[in-house]
Amino acid sequence: MEVAAVLVAAGSGERLGADRPKAFVVVAGRLMLEWSVAAIRAAGIEHIAVALPEGESAPPGCAAVRGGATRSESVRAALARVSGAERVVVHDAARPLVEPDLFTRCLAALSNADAAIAAAPVTDTVKETGADRIVSATLDRSRLWAVQTPQAFRRTSLERALECPEAVIRAATDDSMLIERIGGVVRVVESSPANFKVTTPHDLEVAELLLGRRP
Ligand code: C5P
Repeated sequence: MEVAAVLVAAGSGERLGADRPKAFVVVAGRLMLEWSVAAIRAAGIEHIAVALPEGESAPPGCAAVRGGATRSESVRAALARVSGAERVVVHDAARPLVEPDLFTRCLAALSNADAAIAAAPVTDTVKETGADRIVSATLDRSRLWAVQTPQAFRRTSLERALECPEAVIRAATDDSMLIERIGGVVRVVESSPANFKVTTPHDLEVAELLLGRRP
């Protein structure tokens, strides 16, 4: 097993307000996580470990793992199921619009990095404020990226990065920040904003329309 995928699907998706975990909501006729499984397979990756919420089962042919309390804990649990792989690509089940070639491009960009992550250039102006909502800075947009998944890793680097204090794991919003923390090289692979994360009911409507057009 040279390459494996970890699909994290164990979140509750509270902001979506559905009656089931987000990855198990039906979008354009398929469970949300099944769109990602199809894209991963179309990229030629056969080994897939899925981190699941309690009571749910994995799509056929995927290894099932009980997810953790936070996203990175779910990644850690699923990573243990693909311990034979040299390279691992981590993907959020909440991004069902991902295209197969993004997995391929992230894996290719690993040749001179510890991690290669999909990201879209930021198009909005981004400002920083204090708790009082008074602006303290306007960031230089030309240097900013909105980070997505997939994120490809050398497995040994990701394992080392995940051996960190529990408080760091709990606070991590992606896995590549843990690689940065141990001094690893993280490379950005340009992606499209179309690979958005389904978070709100509005996102789900847009995903339904776009995926409904696919053959
Ligand atoms: O909550 P958010 O949408 O940022 O979650 C991103 C991805 O991480 C989702 O696919 C979600 O299912 C997954 N996740 C997980 N385990 C958790 C929390 C989130 O697998 N404890």
